Amino acid sequence: MHIAGQTVHLTPQQRELIDLAATLGREKFAPRAERHDREASFPFENYDDLRSSGLLAICVPREFGGLGADFATYVMVAAEIGRHCGATALSFNMHVSSCMWSGFIADALDMTPEQRADHQRHRTLHYRNIVQDGKVYSQPFSEGGAAAAGKAPWGTLARKVDGGYVINGKKIFASLAGAADFYGALCTLDKPGATQRDSLYLAVPAASQGVSVVGDWDPLGMRGTVSRTLLFKDVFVPETARLMPEGLYFQAAMRFPHMFATLSPTYMGIAQAAYDFTVAYLRAEVPGMPPVKRRMYPTKQIAVADMRIKLEQTRALFLQNARDAKVDPDKDTRMRLYAAHFTIMENANALAALAVRTCGGQSMLKSLPLERLYRDSRCGSLMLPWTAELCQDRLGRECLYESGERDEELE
Ligand SMILES: Cc1cc2nc3c(=O)[nH]c(=O)nc-3n(C[C@H](O)[C@H](O)[C@H](O)COP(=O)(O)OP(=O)(O)OC[C@H]3O[C@@H](n4cnc5c(N)ncnc54)[C@H](O)[C@@H]3O)c2cc1C
Repeated sequence: MHIAGQTVHLTPQQRELIDLAATLGREKFAPRAERHDREASFPFENYDDLRSSGLLAICVPREFGGLGADFATYVMVAAEIGRHCGATALSFNMHVSSCMWSGFIADALDMTPEQRADHQRHRTLHYRNIVQDGKVYSQPFSEGGAAAAGKAPWGTLARKVDGGYVINGKKIFASLAGAADFYGALCTLDKPGATQRDSLYLAVPAASQGVSVVGDWDPLGMRGTVSRTLLFKDVFVPETARLMPEGLYFQAAMRFPHMFATLSPTYMGIAQAAYDFTVAYLRAEVPGMPPVKRRMYPTKQIAVADMRIKLEQTRALFLQNARDAKVDPDKDTRMRLYAAHFTIMENANALAALAVRTCGGQSMLKSLPLERLYRDSRCGSLMLPWTAELCQDRLGRECLYESGERDEELE
């Protein structure tokens, strides 16, 4: 069954790309996942497959030679990849986000005619890198402080110089560190009194002088993302490095909140995989396991029914979210988005935990994928800017306050 469910109406392109992701995932990514997880190594072969299948350009607009997939198509494809290898889906999202943000998201925002012409020139170069040269982009934002939570300007600074910018700073948890060709770094324009409005989104060539990858990477889960630390020391990038015009990132973050929800499809895929595994295990259909059926026990049937209910609840919100994405969503849509993101991240972990309990001791041996799903699933709720806590934080505030309302007696 497709991640999107059999009954969902899919366009021909959606069906074709989800099928492609399912085939790649099942035949190529899943068999490699255990090794990359054990070694915490980057799945370069998976990226070779994404490149040769055309999926690297999934969200490059058609006019630039890409597949021109929209938000809904992308998230369903991403979930299908996540079903087979969570780490690949998560790092792939960093690459694809570079295309979505500079593509249909930027198209929906306000720009001056000069900014739009500039943006068109710059993205032509970046999309050519992807479509013709198969280059990979990443999205290192996190710095360990409040910036990635959306509560402070980026500590990484870009100083304007003749012909471009000089960047200094540090990014932690940078998926694709040492694997991407370009690091799409968020920086603050270096000027007195700079705020979050002065954010700049710059594609830093990985081979630039002054770029280094440091530290180790030995985490609980999502080990194949190889999210090591990046240092930028006096790194010069030309003006064409701008993936969005100056000031546009802030506008995008304010007006197109679905841009941050692309982190959850990976975990929708993991939730589905935990359920898939449980069904196969209880039916004694997991390759390499003794043919011991467990499906006849009423307690197992109730547990798997609970899992299916949780999965359907999660999927319903995921698909609604996929359909809702647009510029300037109304308040209800934005609140549903936080609720959906929270639900997907938390339910992925809840489903993986239920799967381990229901399948039993032998199911959590490292020779089987469930143990990896359990660890990977825990990582979703930690992802800034929308950690589970920050989703609740935004949702709680917006439930109780209308725009501009304050409590004067507390001030
Ligand atoms: C597998 C994996 C891959 C990742 N890949 C990337 C990547 O490619 N690019 C990238 O940029 N990031 C990536 N991240 C990073 C992720 O988004 C977080 O930045 C990271 O988990 C580090 O978080 P932290 O411990 O610094 O966050 P936290 O300590 O949770 O948050 C950092 C700061 O945000 C503020 N904050 C946090 N929670 C709250 C709250 N509830 N209320 C108010 N303020 C709060 C505080 O100021 C806090 O000090 C990845 C993370 C994982 C787990």
